Amino acid sequence: MSTVSWDFTPLSAEQELIQREIGRICGEFDDEYWREHERDNEYPQEFADLLAENGWFGALIPEEYGGGGMSTEEMVVMMEEIAGSGAGFGGAQAIHGAIYTSRPLVEHGNERIKEEILPGIAAGEATVQSLGLTEPNAGSESTAIETTAERDGDEYVINGQKIWTSRLDVTDYLLLVARTKSPDEATKKTDGISMFLVDMEMAKAQGAVEMKSISKTALNLSHSFEVWFDELRVPAENLIGEEHEGFYYLLDGLNDERLVIASECIGHAKVAIERAAQYADEREVFDRQIGKNQAIQHPLAKAYMRTLATKQLVYETAALMDSLDRQQVGILANSSKYLAAEAAYEASDAAVQTHGGFGVAREYDVERYFRNARIARIAPISQELTLNYVSEKALDLPRSF
Ligand SMILES: Cc1cc2nc3c(=O)[nH]c(=O)nc-3n(C[C@H](O)[C@H](O)[C@H](O)COP(=O)(O)OP(=O)(O)OC[C@H]3O[C@@H](n4cnc5c(N)ncnc54)[C@H](O)[C@@H]3O)c2cc1C
Repeated sequence: MSTVSWDFTPLSAEQELIQREIGRICGEFDDEYWREHERDNEYPQEFADLLAENGWFGALIPEEYGGGGMSTEEMVVMMEEIAGSGAGFGGAQAIHGAIYTSRPLVEHGNERIKEEILPGIAAGEATVQSLGLTEPNAGSESTAIETTAERDGDEYVINGQKIWTSRLDVTDYLLLVARTKSPDEATKKTDGISMFLVDMEMAKAQGAVEMKSISKTALNLSHSFEVWFDELRVPAENLIGEEHEGFYYLLDGLNDERLVIASECIGHAKVAIERAAQYADEREVFDRQIGKNQAIQHPLAKAYMRTLATKQLVYETAALMDSLDRQQVGILANSSKYLAAEAAYEASDAAVQTHGGFGVAREYDVERYFRNARIARIAPISQELTLNYVSEKALDLPRSF
């Protein structure tokens, strides 16, 4: 039996504890669980519930509100462990929002929101799983959003359309980003955008929200929606932070999130490589193991090296975040996300090739890894946009977008 070596990165006592605890929870969900949920387009509710019950959805919430008070250094361990357990990038993404979407509430929410909402999330009783940012006419260029929020007394009235809003069917709250100034009034592209907490039950009761699930070929554990808002009324007290400043709140958490996405890709790459090495060790063709062929070994060795190196970068960046300036962290975090998404894709592709025909049989899981790794190159930020950032900030080249 082939054993792949990964443990070269020293972990702190707290990181080890997280790895152990998350490993224990993930151990209750086998490959069949992930395979069947993905096949049936079904949200992994049992997995999410177990994480929530054990307080993991409140990992980033400060202890004073009942949360874990953790930071990116701990989160990269958690998410790598989840993806690496067999859940892959798809499994990690299914619960990623439940942890990360509440971050602006922690950092910019008013006291009422913090006191009413955060303890419920930390206790696993409510979730903020969805972020509505992308629109049909505003994907990578997110400052081009057209959805509007107009103040009317002690409410805002929201009109517009979002696309790709994920997990809207399983969340209690949606974090919605909308224009509170027209582009003409805004002093710059990032000005005049605000963030709102939308209670989905209340929104549905108003009949002001229409949702349509997008049929897709990957990340099938979570559903993504086209959603229309028609005169949706949101209490003004559900504005997050200052009016017109919402875009900056999105930017605040971006570097941390890039690193966490990278760690999900690393876990994903690890499990793909492990499965491939295992199969290469067992499968015999021409009276010998296929793993004796360098054509099988080398792609896996390359994917392994890329994964290992990227993991070092991710963990080191997570550890150095507080001592570097924002731009330095941005360069490292964008580089991490880019390299990790490539590593996940390269590993999954090599795993499919190693499995030959069984590479596309659902039973062997690597086809699921392959489909889902493809998305890591597109969302939540495309590889091209990370390259744009690094070209401008690290190479000092003119801004290209
Ligand atoms: C499964 C899935 C789940 C998602 N979940 C959510 C969610 O929950 N909430 C949410 O708000 N959004 C979500 N998204 C949207 C996601 O963030 C966007 O798909 C992503 O940001 C890319 O935007 P786009 O699809 O509009 O592509 P576009 O912006 O149209 O880009 C198309 C292509 O052109 C390239 N391109 C564009 N401009 C440039 C440039 N200047 N230089 C180089 N290349 C460029 C892009 O890299 C890309 O390859 C999700 C997407 C997917 C696929």
